[in-house]
Amino acid sequence: MQHSELLLTYPIHGATVWAESNTQGWYVMGGWKHVDSHCEFDGHEEVVFASDKTSGLRAIIAVHRTFLNPHSGKPQSLGGIRMVPYATDADALTDVLRLSKGMSYKAALANVPFGGAKSVIIGNPNMLQADKEKLLAAFARVLDKLHGTYVGAEDMGMKVADMDFIRRKTEWVAGTSGHMGGSGDPSRMTALGVFASIEICFERVFGNPSVFGRKVSISGVGNVGRNLAVLLMKNGAHVYIADTNSATLQSVGSLLFDEMQKGQRTGTFTVVEPHECHALDVDAYAPCAGGAILNDDTIPRLRCSVVAGSANNQLAKTHHGDMLHERGILYAPDYVVNAGGLINVSIETEPGGYNEETAQERVRHIPHIVRQIFMRSEAGRIAPHHVADRMALEIIEQKRV
Ligand code: NAD
Repeated sequence: MQHSELLLTYPIHGATVWAESNTQGWYVMGGWKHVDSHCEFDGHEEVVFASDKTSGLRAIIAVHRTFLNPHSGKPQSLGGIRMVPYATDADALTDVLRLSKGMSYKAALANVPFGGAKSVIIGNPNMLQADKEKLLAAFARVLDKLHGTYVGAEDMGMKVADMDFIRRKTEWVAGTSGHMGGSGDPSRMTALGVFASIEICFERVFGNPSVFGRKVSISGVGNVGRNLAVLLMKNGAHVYIADTNSATLQSVGSLLFDEMQKGQRTGTFTVVEPHECHALDVDAYAPCAGGAILNDDTIPRLRCSVVAGSANNQLAKTHHGDMLHERGILYAPDYVVNAGGLINVSIETEPGGYNEETAQERVRHIPHIVRQIFMRSEAGRIAPHHVADRMALEIIEQKRV
């Protein structure tokens, strides 16, 4: 193996280039000579395997597409940095390839000036913060080597404080806290996009977008679910909440109780069991926890008219979107609905820096895209998830650098 300044990048359409640095301590993760034969490979522009002996970092960055960013004048991609204790490196590769492709679709329909990418750091996010920071410092060096082709942001297992830490080492990260000029926690904007999308769903189904008096169940009241519950209640909806974490449920319960005391037109809330949340007789079901919640078991049990939530990859398989369509349940494609966080963070990279009003204004555009999807779906008698994919692909092709 040849020793070189940097690691190991997988350049487009070819065999993996393995390299290592004895000065920096980089070495190669074991593995894949032909990423392009992986079942989740989709013509990714670049896949970088990064590994550092000193810190113990093992990470993969997958750049699915770069789009020419008019602000920076260079091809760039944006996507979350995820820290997960994957059982195997192969699981990490599968995840990062799949998720990075999803980011391109999301970015295309959200009209952000970046292509899609994702990175995974293999590790337990609950490790000692000092150990985590060693990994993040090494990861920041990898980001630096990519010179902005990939801009990282917060994802599972990461906190805003972690983004701040990385930002002190490299400029190629977004989603830092307000005092560092960043956009901070994206979940409020994500919840706003979901809320506005639920309104559009109600407009299509009931002829009136108002959530007042409507019943909405939310599975998972973490960062996004909690904000969504507040928005719905403030606007007079009856909210059913479920969470597997009892402490979260308790704190959200008292938050909503305080909300209920505030005004006469405020809605109500009821706590339900996580396993029954999707099967309630409600107007809308909002999955805001893990993926693959719409599957062979759950879809026949749904009693809602609408499914619109923040969770990524809600459809276990693509055909589950067709099952919903056949059942007459309106499904708002997850990656369109939950793009508020991405829109929010991308504003931070613009010349003027982050501005909350701009973020809100752009997030409020999400329902217009959702409406377009539904209109095309109705006109072509095609399930909305297929329409969204087609629209995203068209944009990706147009934007190809
Ligand atoms: P979070 O971890 O803060 O909240 C998730 C909550 O779901 C937790 O409270 C957890 O206890 C609960 N949960 C887990 N399994 C559950 C189950 N089976 N039933 C009920 N509750 C369960 O995460 P988040 O930031 O709120 O994100 C929620 C979802 O939205 C995730 O899929 C995430 O990828 C997606 N998403 C989030 C954002 C964002 O801005 N945070 C943006 C886009 C997409």
